[in-house]
Amino acid sequence: MRFILAFIFFADMAFSQSAKPGGQRPNIIYIMSDDHDNDAISAYNKRFISTPNIDRLAKEGMRFNRAFVGNSICAPARATLLTGQHSHKNGVKDNFTRFDSSKITIAPLLRKEGYSTAMIGKWHLQSYPAGFDYWRILPGMGQYFDTRMITMGGDTIIEKGYSTDVITDDALQWLNNIDRHQPFVLFLHHKAPHRNFVPALKYLEQYHTKIFPEPPTLYNDTAGHGSAWRIQTMSILSVMRLCGDLKVDPQYLADIPELKPDADDIATYNAIMKRMPENQRQRFKEIYAERGQLIQQLRPKGKELLKYKYQWYMQDYLACVASIDESIGKVLDYLDQHQLAKNTVVIYTSDQGFYLGENGWFDKRFAYDVSMRTPLIVRWPGHIQPGSVSNTLVQNIDFAPTILDIARAKVPEWMQGVSLLPLLTGKQKTLPRKYLYYHYYEFGKDHTVIPHLAIRGEKYKLIYFYTVNEWELYDLEKDPAEQHNLIQSPQQQAIIKQLKTELKKLRDLYDDHEPAGELN
Ligand code: CA
Repeated sequence: MRFILAFIFFADMAFSQSAKPGGQRPNIIYIMSDDHDNDAISAYNKRFISTPNIDRLAKEGMRFNRAFVGNSICAPARATLLTGQHSHKNGVKDNFTRFDSSKITIAPLLRKEGYSTAMIGKWHLQSYPAGFDYWRILPGMGQYFDTRMITMGGDTIIEKGYSTDVITDDALQWLNNIDRHQPFVLFLHHKAPHRNFVPALKYLEQYHTKIFPEPPTLYNDTAGHGSAWRIQTMSILSVMRLCGDLKVDPQYLADIPELKPDADDIATYNAIMKRMPENQRQRFKEIYAERGQLIQQLRPKGKELLKYKYQWYMQDYLACVASIDESIGKVLDYLDQHQLAKNTVVIYTSDQGFYLGENGWFDKRFAYDVSMRTPLIVRWPGHIQPGSVSNTLVQNIDFAPTILDIARAKVPEWMQGVSLLPLLTGKQKTLPRKYLYYHYYEFGKDHTVIPHLAIRGEKYKLIYFYTVNEWELYDLEKDPAEQHNLIQSPQQQAIIKQLKTELKKLRDLYDDHEPAGELN
């Protein structure tokens, strides 16, 4: 008996080494930026920006057009990546909850398979990472300049430079240092393009004179919509701050009563300016002063003010994205130069989508497609057909199972997602799952989006704002911008009933008990 056990143990050991049947296990680089909307990637939409390096991944790999998250906000998306579970299971429902790092996550499961593992960049889960061979993380959501990083010893250090560059360089440094006889998995998590949108100067120089097309719904108001639309505070016009978020020099606003920045706004602006490299600060100030002079001169109000705020928002946000694209280029070059490209899976995604002026909004949170959707592009030479596109509904609970499956590791039963590997390799075109589940919880001072449950199918989306007992139904084929709530439509009552049944089934499947009671 002892002999048999020993034999099984050694057979198991042999299989988990990298030199096992099927050759070297693939390396995996998972790159996740923060708040990077699909529309700000030219592989998805060419209207705003050119992202040649992310596009290269799409050209050489697979682009998912219908990748979604289960709770569109920063920390929950990260907990879902680590656990393959929806928020109610992994415990991180909002941005304020500490993730219990003693939980088993994808990291030790990969390490058990012989992988070198690293987490570098935005962590945002209050605790420190566990189960990684190496980590270096931003405190909280981090800063763009003079990037503070928490090291494995628990020290906070300042790395001079721009966060996207710093995080990329740290990641490449780690790749330089590891033993290449082992496969590696690198989680490279950017801060950008999260607010406060501070670009690298070279990209602000390029972008601050560009004019971007306005979304058709930019000037919409909330008339005719439900409580969630009326209560949200995501408005570019009235919520986004001119100094702290958009970088208009506050001195140009001081004598305009309706735009006069408060002390907090000025303090944020000054703190960000202070972090900038001294030799660049003057040029940043000039650009923010140019915008301020325009405000002084025109004194825009209402729609006119929104027109300018939208352009400045897009200029700053897209200039932040330009650095992300440059970072992807550096990573891909590194893989080429070190003959690693062929056996390295590169995944690019964001923690969720982001409003770029649709409905007049910025931020995320809603189960509406703009924020529920996330970019997802995967390259694996020799395994994924170059230039392929998937329209299958996939979700971020699937990321952990997919990574484990690629690594030839067993996917634990407690993970709630499914492996996308059969889609990636072309073995399957679809998944048996017909609907995606969504649950948003956080109702704090930031953006005041009412908690909701939702179910998204191919054609319809049903949303339940349960604290106000309001339902919304959208026909995603006829109304992809989700402007017309059909919940009262007599023609839709059969589909509403069916979707409510499907929503209840999903709640049972995922074992979500909040809110308690029936959903009627
Ligand atoms: Ca985010």
